[in-house]
Amino acid sequence: MTQEQWGSLQEDLLNTVGQNNYKAWIEPLQLAELSDGVATFTVPTNFIGNYVSQNFGDLIIHQLSQAGEDVQRVHFRVGSAANRNHASSSKPNAGARAVAADASSLKTDLPGAPLDARFTFDTFVVGKPNELANAAARRVAEGGPVTFNPLFLYGGVGLGKTHLMHAIAWELQTQRPDLNVLYLSAEQFMYRFVQALRDRKMMDFKELFRSVDVLMVDDVQFIAGKDSTQEEFFHTFNALVDQNKQIIISADRAPGEIKDMEDRIRSRLQCGLVVDLHPTDYELRLGILQSKVDQYKAQYPDLQLAPGVLEFLAHRISTNVRVLEGALTRLFAFASLVGREITMELTQDCLSDVLRASERKISVEEIQRRVADHYNIRLSDMIGPKRVRTFARPRQVAMFLCKQLTSRSLPEIGRRFGGRDHTTVMHGVKRIEELRSSDGQIAEDLEMLRRALEA
Ligand code: ADP
Ligand code: MG
Repeated sequence: MTQEQWGSLQEDLLNTVGQNNYKAWIEPLQLAELSDGVATFTVPTNFIGNYVSQNFGDLIIHQLSQAGEDVQRVHFRVGSAANRNHASSSKPNAGARAVAADASSLKTDLPGAPLDARFTFDTFVVGKPNELANAAARRVAEGGPVTFNPLFLYGGVGLGKTHLMHAIAWELQTQRPDLNVLYLSAEQFMYRFVQALRDRKMMDFKELFRSVDVLMVDDVQFIAGKDSTQEEFFHTFNALVDQNKQIIISADRAPGEIKDMEDRIRSRLQCGLVVDLHPTDYELRLGILQSKVDQYKAQYPDLQLAPGVLEFLAHRISTNVRVLEGALTRLFAFASLVGREITMELTQDCLSDVLRASERKISVEEIQRRVADHYNIRLSDMIGPKRVRTFARPRQVAMFLCKQLTSRSLPEIGRRFGGRDHTTVMHGVKRIEELRSSDGQIAEDLEMLRRALEA
């Protein structure tokens, strides 16, 4: 197989894997050798070789077989720059051209990542856990004088880091169209860097990254342990800070907790404003669900949503907003498919796997202890046989909370309350449900206890 033939196979792959994957992973591959059922490619780095092998290996084998080659295995080796340049001279190399630092094309050629149109400040629901991050992001998005540099946003998966970063970028595009805003993931930063090394375009690379007014790098923990990329990031970072350009960074943990990150980088990252997105709480989850439902109403105008479903989801689904959104999307799609109202029952059926996966690990014992504390009675009295109101009511409250916050069945709960029958538990749960709407004090107690238990 000639380089030309491989080149046209690569172009076929472009359609299969899409432009971004193509640029990042397929384009850099040079076919070096094809013998004994093994196709050997030269790649710029081991990382690319491993990634391609894991993600596109089968696809490449398939493509080669389609072209009539006998291939069972792909192999990657890191090739020297001279060989690569020679080999690639015969085929188009769009990647290298995209990084060409022609001053007039700088703006359009900025190697950023596309922004998600849904990720704006308008669609970002603010609550206690994220109000600080939101405020800081909005401040930066005004594009005024740089007051804290960098802005470092961190938090667990699915808590809105990427959403906020895109929101900043969108807002800056309207507020300050004169500014050169560049958003990309740390992974993309690394890839651009590697590509520049390969194509011997480091000068262009440096020029490009130092020409932005606002640099946003998402998931910076990714470059930890990747030494030369870290090094380059550090220089880029310093050059921009020296020019008083705004930098916004996100990571899945605090700067000090990123392992394999050089100390000097870590301390650099800490010297601006560091804000974290806390895990969502019940109120924020409910707010997010409500705002999503409003959006879905346009899409599914006929769908009915039974009361209590959103509250149930906000209670039961974990703090990860992505999971929460996914559950709601599925629920709406399913309900519209079967043409039924979204009831509690339908919800439990449709989302049983998600609900099981994000079950809170609150134990019956924990609930009993908390509730006994709250009502100032002894644990032994709560579990014991006495039926006076002072013990019976807290017992029912605890049963109710066990039903709501654990996955225990009624018989299981009964067993843990001194071997009571499941009908007793059922009666208790019902009683509290009734009281919750008629007795303000009980409602308040329940709310407080639930919060304490979930905290
Ligand atoms: P992260 O980057 O922190 O892993 P994302 O920003 O990708 O998380 O958020 C995951 C999903 O949850 C996205 O679809 C985002 O729009 C949504 N999301 C997260 N937080 C909020 C919020 N406060 N309001 C509305 N949507 C949110
Ligand atoms: Mg993200």
